[in-house]
Amino acid sequence: MSRYIGPVCRLCRREGIKLMLKGSRCYSAKCPMERQSRNRPPGMHFWRRRKSTSYGIRLREKQKVKRYYGVYERQFVLYFARAEKAKGNTGEVLLSLLERRLDNVIRKLGFAASPKAAREVVGHGHILVNNRKIDRPSYQVRVGDTIGVRSKDGSQKLIRQNLETCGGPTSQGWLELVPERLEATVAALPGRDDVQIPVEEQLIVEMCSR
Ligand code: SF4
Repeated sequence: MSRYIGPVCRLCRREGIKLMLKGSRCYSAKCPMERQSRNRPPGMHFWRRRKSTSYGIRLREKQKVKRYYGVYERQFVLYFARAEKAKGNTGEVLLSLLERRLDNVIRKLGFAASPKAAREVVGHGHILVNNRKIDRPSYQVRVGDTIGVRSKDGSQKLIRQNLETCGGPTSQGWLELVPERLEATVAALPGRDDVQIPVEEQLIVEMCSR
């Protein structure tokens, strides 16, 4: 499985939205998407590009989702297979499964400033789910789960620093946060409205079902 190690701002410029991949820079005026001269697709000859094909439009939607949640093709295929088997709208189930990843929850709560940082925070064992250390970023949270931070000084300090970078803890509709205790409870499964990037999931389903 190949890992992308190139410039991440380029990915935002390609997708035309802020994917929040770079940490503190995403919250500052230095973000290229905030500067008119840089808020355009990457590459020298971007204005010469031909009109997108229907395949190209579908591919962009898929890439946008993969990049936002930080999953690679193989993992994405497995999520799609699970979504297809589940009851309900496949596109919405797919987004819900991705939204429920523990690294995404950590980022949503403001405990980490980027998907990469969130994976590290989880992977290094700073996070507890139902008072048990979970170090698997792909862990799927369930309704009633309590997500907290280890009581070790190092863990608490790291998360508080990250919260400062992100501008404080952020409550989500489906996550009930107690900021003083650095703890959140999963109150409901995430719905379509909880997905914060503009995406047409139906196009992804059309592409992946072929
Ligand atoms: Fe770069 Fe973050 Fe801005 Fe994206 S949102 S362009 S990653 S600074």
